[in-house]
Amino acid sequence: MNHPPNPNIERLFALDRERMYLSKAAAVLHWDEETCLPPLAVEERAEQLAVLEGLAHEKLTGPETGELLDRCREDLRVRCGESPSGNDRFAADFLRVLERDYRRAVKLPPDFVRDSARAEGLSQAAWIKARKNSDFSAFAPHLEKMLTYARKRAEYWGFGSGSRNAGAASTAYDGLLDSFEPGMGEAEIDAVFGPLKERLQKLLRKIAASPKPDDGFLHLDYDLNSQREFSRELLDGLGFDRRRGRLDESAHPFTTTLGYNDVRVTTRYAQNDPMSGIFSLIHESGHAFYELALDPALKASCLAEGVSMGIHESQSRLWENVIGRSRAFWEGWFPAFKSRFSGQLAGVELPGFYRAVNAAGPSLIRTEADEVSYSLHIILRFELERRLVSGGLSVEDAPAAWNAAFGELFGLEVPNDAAGILQDVHWSMGAFGYFPSYALGNLYALQFWKKCTADIPRIETLLARREYAEIHGWLGEKIHAFGRRLLPAELLERVTGETLSALPFLEYLETKYAELYEF
Ligand code: ZN
Repeated sequence: MNHPPNPNIERLFALDRERMYLSKAAAVLHWDEETCLPPLAVEERAEQLAVLEGLAHEKLTGPETGELLDRCREDLRVRCGESPSGNDRFAADFLRVLERDYRRAVKLPPDFVRDSARAEGLSQAAWIKARKNSDFSAFAPHLEKMLTYARKRAEYWGFGSGSRNAGAASTAYDGLLDSFEPGMGEAEIDAVFGPLKERLQKLLRKIAASPKPDDGFLHLDYDLNSQREFSRELLDGLGFDRRRGRLDESAHPFTTTLGYNDVRVTTRYAQNDPMSGIFSLIHESGHAFYELALDPALKASCLAEGVSMGIHESQSRLWENVIGRSRAFWEGWFPAFKSRFSGQLAGVELPGFYRAVNAAGPSLIRTEADEVSYSLHIILRFELERRLVSGGLSVEDAPAAWNAAFGELFGLEVPNDAAGILQDVHWSMGAFGYFPSYALGNLYALQFWKKCTADIPRIETLLARREYAEIHGWLGEKIHAFGRRLLPAELLERVTGETLSALPFLEYLETKYAELYEF
């Protein structure tokens, strides 16, 4: 790593590296658990993970870290004042991020961490059962507990530490949001989600009033091995370097970074829904491309991660939707796909295929939602969870509030809680404040894309030719390389010159769907 020779900061880099190696070792065990662990090994694996994660936590929260942080900050201030540059800038960014991680960890008393982790385990188990039986009342006491722990956690942290809304009162929900989207406040999100909701609803109504595209050919029998082969071809074609990563299968697709040259993606295949595996793969590849293009100088440090959940999600959604659901993309890939599945796609041409993979309409389940309705599913969750956290909505009244909000958004009746408030795992894990990342990802993605297409005017031609190097280069240089060195809002402003805005996303969807559905 490129930094000035200073024994204090050298020691801090070393401590941080040891912590990162311990947590990467735990990540290998997690990856293994999701992809190939024998069923009877699950319990022992949980114990192995607890030991490794405990050691990583100790590395971060030990008194030595706190003392060194103080000393290094003082050294830097004496040497450079308020505006460090070059190697000192790097050291300053490192200290800021490590200090953030350190403070957030040490502010939580060990008893609280242990008790809340145990309660989360019980809560998740109760949620699985409650969802299976569609019985919210069995989960309600656990949700109550998760909310109590979440409020308490925010209180220990002192609410939103880095909110950019000067003068705005910080809320417990701000504190929780800050874990996923550093510096972003509830009010800031609300101001953007409000108008977004209105225009998306309007668009969805227009789509619902138009004739539906035929997508029956995407639900025939597609051989799983042929799907696997196509996915490998696609992954290689997208530019994923398999010397630096792997593709495997898991029940829930995910991406995990095990080292600078080791980023793993997974997908899953469904016999009668080949696009599910394909779009999951493209989505996860988008996450992987981010991790694979980090500046090598950040290697094995706390800076070597995506800047926030929302920015990370902007990269996966950019690849999955903006690129992967575009006509130009399939101009490049449809011939290869059709040659593997010529029977199922007999008589299907590119325009019909393009319409089918972009079919939209109201749906009950978030994870199956299309590009237009997806963000509405998120806005519903954001509006409910902030009221749950503030106490403005009781757990008891939550299912009715969910169903009413759902009816208002989509004009659909929720048939049962399993297809309603119980469908997502997040609240059962106490992850309040996570949901907005998904919709923020959509918004960031189009803000970045607008700039990217202005900088690379022949982008459609490149996509149609399956040439992605220039796009990877642009995203890598402008977004990925920084890791955590900037805050999300700083990165956005640096790349686009703008603050968070829903307009590019709305304009993109309105144009695309007016053409697709001919209104
Ligand atoms: Zn994702």
